[in-house]
Amino acid sequence: MAVNVIRTGGCLCGAVRYQVQGEPYISGLCHCATCRKLTGSPFSATANWHLSQFQMTGEIQTYERRSFCPTCGSRLFFLFEGGVELFLGTLDAAPNGIEPAVEVWTIRREHWLPVVPGAISYPENPSEL
Ligand SMILES: [Zn+2]
Ligand SMILES: [Zn+2]
Repeated sequence: MAVNVIRTGGCLCGAVRYQVQGEPYISGLCHCATCRKLTGSPFSATANWHLSQFQMTGEIQTYERRSFCPTCGSRLFFLFEGGVELFLGTLDAAPNGIEPAVEVWTIRREHWLPVVPGAISYPENPSEL
């Protein structure tokens, strides 16, 4: 994938739109209790970009620093100092070409989910991430 690839995404209703340029510096799946609750799914799939690679339009609200569309409720991203963690299900294109590099809280992984080939696996929360 080209270094300057641009990926677009947004919420379900379309009021919030974003784009990221270039590849993420980390990507992963997380099976922790927080990710399950906040996504409504058995795990989260996310990737992180530097803030300089990210642009967005539209109004957002946040809960515990996770941003969502106040109209449709789609959970979109987590903004932090210098970066953004996107929930990859909000990207427009699928497949999105981003493979998980890490898999976190695998002790909570559903037994019907396969292990991600090549991903570094952490049984619980890795202190170094
Ligand atoms: Zn929306
Ligand atoms: Zn998690």
